[in-house]
Amino acid sequence: MRVLITGGAGFLGTALANRLVELGHHVRVLDDLSAGDPARLSPRVLFTRGDVRDVPKLWSLLQSVQCVFHLAARVSVPESVLYARDYNDVNVGGTVAVMEAMRDVGVARVVLASSATVYGVQASLPLHEAMRPNPQVPYAVAKLAAEHYVFTLGALHHIETVALRIFNAYGPGQRIPPVHAPVVPQLLKQTLAGGSLVVFGNGQQTRDFVYVDDVVSALVAASQAPDVNRQIINVGSGQETTINELIQAIAAAAGRAPEVLYNDHETGGVVHMVADLHKAQHLLGYAPSVTLPQGLAQLLEKDPRVQLSHAPHRGLS
Ligand code: NAD
Repeated sequence: MRVLITGGAGFLGTALANRLVELGHHVRVLDDLSAGDPARLSPRVLFTRGDVRDVPKLWSLLQSVQCVFHLAARVSVPESVLYARDYNDVNVGGTVAVMEAMRDVGVARVVLASSATVYGVQASLPLHEAMRPNPQVPYAVAKLAAEHYVFTLGALHHIETVALRIFNAYGPGQRIPPVHAPVVPQLLKQTLAGGSLVVFGNGQQTRDFVYVDDVVSALVAASQAPDVNRQIINVGSGQETTINELIQAIAAAAGRAPEVLYNDHETGGVVHMVADLHKAQHLLGYAPSVTLPQGLAQLLEKDPRVQLSHAPHRGLS
């Protein structure tokens, strides 16, 4: 297969690109490097720097491509609250641009990296695909709009479409920006540095943490599976984990117990999240294979940034 990954120099995109070249596919990546870094991409990946809304660039990159993985997006929930227009421009506008360019060139299938945040607040768990979306933040609204554009334009222009609602992915290579960092690498880094952890709310809010390799397996399966056209499919671990339990797992993996400070003035966002995986199992043959303790151990072992902060403490203890 010849594929294009938009946002392919990011956390999930790099892991996906490297898996696909290992499987023998021809991989092109388009990324503007606003958050990504091409250094971790296999030399066999053809990297192009550019904006996903640049349709003429997409036309040339899409020649002879059978499948697009559309991952390019701004990805911070709190940032989207501050910059809703930017999130709409990139995450919705970028998706429409990809679909129009695919129509023009005649590409067969697109796999959209959507998000579990589109569920927002629901009355029951686990979260399953038939639930009515209830987005609470601009990032989630944009992902829901992207799903609708992908399905609608796909149906109009005869492009096969599938949207994966990815839960909280973590693993080596995930960026740790100075503000609004994702929870797993942020808490791990602070624990290794011997700092205190600040938890919003009481730490009893739950999330579904899924290891990057499992997400990549689902993305690859979605590009090849029959009978997935116009389907929304959850991708998670199926395990509901409180933030307090995550901190315990991080403490065990890091070999040190951090001090935890609870900030009751702020909420931790949507209270409970866990994926129902029946549809993923049925349509993609998906079964998560990495537990949270295993995933945290692999993150510690494989991520040089984490190793850097880990090593001195080992030496001292
Ligand atoms: P990431 O920030 O590491 O990757 C996104 C990539 O898109 C970055 O490399 C960035 O440079 C690129 N990008 C941003 N704007 C662009 C533009 N205008 N043109 C071209 N490239 C652009 O984030 P990630 O965690 O790898 O997420 C990948 C996708 O998966 C995103 O669509 C995200 O919304 C989705 N997703 C991720 C998670 C998760 O837990 N990581 C969960 C749900 C959904």
